[in-house]
Amino acid sequence: MPRTSQRKPRTPVTRPLPPWAERWDELKPDPFRTAREVLPGLYQVRTRGSRAYLVVDGPEITLIDTGNPGSGARILTALRELGRSPEEISHILITHYHLDHVGGLPELQAFIPARTGVHLAEAPHVASDDPLPNPFQHPLLAKICEPWLSRNDPGAARVDVHLNDGDELPGLGGMRVVHAPGHTAGSISIYFPERGALLVGDAMQYKFGRLMLPSRLFTQDMEEATQSVRKLAALDFETLCFSHFRPILTGADQQVREFARGLAG
Ligand SMILES: [Zn+2]
Ligand SMILES: [Zn+2]
Repeated sequence: MPRTSQRKPRTPVTRPLPPWAERWDELKPDPFRTAREVLPGLYQVRTRGSRAYLVVDGPEITLIDTGNPGSGARILTALRELGRSPEEISHILITHYHLDHVGGLPELQAFIPARTGVHLAEAPHVASDDPLPNPFQHPLLAKICEPWLSRNDPGAARVDVHLNDGDELPGLGGMRVVHAPGHTAGSISIYFPERGALLVGDAMQYKFGRLMLPSRLFTQDMEEATQSVRKLAALDFETLCFSHFRPILTGADQQVREFARGLAG
């Protein structure tokens, strides 16, 4: 049941495009595209507040994360640019419950029937009628931001599957769920062993060409986040994707190993 005190989820535009617009979607050059190809079949979409990913492999499409509330239309525009339609999204995976990752979920669910997977530690927050937990770790910042957060709370979303460490999902030769707690208790990374790619959500930052731990401002347990970086450093991958930064396209696992070796504790 939706929360009565919250804004109603926005429904993305469903009108069919005129033929000239479809043609433009197909032909528009890269700088005008909403979706950026990271590697064949894996696309990054700039949403409100973060980046979502589309895994496009054969008839089924998986969406990873949904941006802040109001991001649904942008994700569907990206799909249209790829010549695909919203009904083809079979699964939605959420890396963690923060507003900038789960905010677009209810509005997308109102429009597409995709099965939604969330780590079992996060699922109660996503599915609850209560507002999402305040992500700010500093009590004063949490208090200051509370009114904005409650105004922008997306409302309850449907969770169909509880994900756990080691779960295997179809797409690009197989996607593996890697539980990487710390930023939140149920943060997950998505590993594509066949394609040599790892998508870490907010488990790491990549600023000015340097890997960093997740921001202290929003991270529940920095010690656990450090352990998770060590866990991710044991995987083999070439490409590393983040939710707020540009990807590292080659030699990424070596960079993560070097970063993990330098971490204290
Ligand atoms: Zn986050
Ligand atoms: Zn984030």
